[in-house]
Amino acid sequence: MELLHTDTLEEARRKLEEQSQGLAPGVVEIGRAEALGCICAEDVVSEENVPPFPRSTMDGYAIKAADSYGTGESSPGYYRVTGHVHIEEEADMTVEAGEAVRVQTGSMIPRGADAVLMKEYAEEYVSGKLAGYRAVSEGENIIRAGEDIRAGSCVIFRGKKIGPADIGVMAALGIQKIRVCRAPVVTVISTGDELAGAEEKLMAGKIRDINTEVLAAEAEACGMAVRKTCRVPDDREEIRNAVEEALDKSDVILLSGGSSKGEKDYTKQVFEEISHNVFTHGIAIKPGKPTLLAFDPASGTILAGLPGHPMAAALIFRLVIRDWYLKRCGAARPLPCPAVMAENVSSNHGRVSCLPVKLRMVKKTEGSGTVTVEAVPVHAKSGSIFALASADGYVMIDRNREGLKKGEQVLVERLD
Ligand code: AMP
Ligand code: MG
Repeated sequence: MELLHTDTLEEARRKLEEQSQGLAPGVVEIGRAEALGCICAEDVVSEENVPPFPRSTMDGYAIKAADSYGTGESSPGYYRVTGHVHIEEEADMTVEAGEAVRVQTGSMIPRGADAVLMKEYAEEYVSGKLAGYRAVSEGENIIRAGEDIRAGSCVIFRGKKIGPADIGVMAALGIQKIRVCRAPVVTVISTGDELAGAEEKLMAGKIRDINTEVLAAEAEACGMAVRKTCRVPDDREEIRNAVEEALDKSDVILLSGGSSKGEKDYTKQVFEEISHNVFTHGIAIKPGKPTLLAFDPASGTILAGLPGHPMAAALIFRLVIRDWYLKRCGAARPLPCPAVMAENVSSNHGRVSCLPVKLRMVKKTEGSGTVTVEAVPVHAKSGSIFALASADGYVMIDRNREGLKKGEQVLVERLD
């Protein structure tokens, strides 16, 4: 029997990075509205101040703060109202000592004024004459020009995954386009005689195909572009045809099932025949040991043979393929969440374990009333998809450990 030499997760990652160096990362310029979820490829520097001019953050009166010093409820300050700045107007007046200009939330602050007295503390007791019942300090109720974003500052860093607020930042600055990392084009192929589509009636012996959907969704969620998904039976020719069809059109082929050494397992053979370059034949990880990685130099395609078990397939996608993509884009990693283990767990010595966990907040009322986040293991077989859906994240257990102890500090990588 051929002994399986397994790579460690780090070895597999390093080999994939080295082997795929010929695959151009590529940068594309896209419109603001399409940028959500993409990874920024170049620092975006603001050319404008936001706001472009000082604005009031309240309805009230723009005044000189010094005029209000010492005033209060029982000793009002008196001001002459000399004008009104509507929200869309330029403030073309100057506030002199003892004067006030009526402003709305968002109005431009006139020259000479350095604070806004809220209208709740002011009363125009006769037209043009104002009593103010509160002292305001310099800058109060005003957002300065550039206080939100200063011209010349970096607003979106290379490697940042563009979120809704970044789209807002671009809108604030009038930025129409952004350079992002080109999304790797992905083909998802699921293999197995037993697989039926979600829309099919389940016949005895058949199960529904989960991997096609979950892998396509994982790929999309991390910013990749899925061009095609398909399901093929455990037939070497058919699998080979499906891979060959995808070669020139994909950067990454995710082929799940048939990746170990069973009688109907053809992934390795097919990858060998096509690429002559299968560099990882198993990873020392639980779940997900039967993982194959190859790079086809002729077409510049990563061939990933993922385990058939859905949870294992999804986790290996994250740990290997998503990790590769994020590293390549210089993407910032989401911070893991520190937690303490809620119970003891054992793990396989010699293999790193990826343990799905739920996060639970525990409030300790005694003492300073601290809040602890507990990681509760989700015990499941690697075929369970619901276990993965129930988990908030996962904990990696080092291969030199035999498990984790209740109360032990861990870092949870978030699954969202
Ligand atoms: P395999 O690696 O092909 O031996 O598959 C391992 C296990 O995963 C078997 O129980 C398969 O039925 C199951 N499996 C393989 N592919 C899928 C899939 N696309 N969706 C759901 N389960 C699958
Ligand atoms: Mg199979």
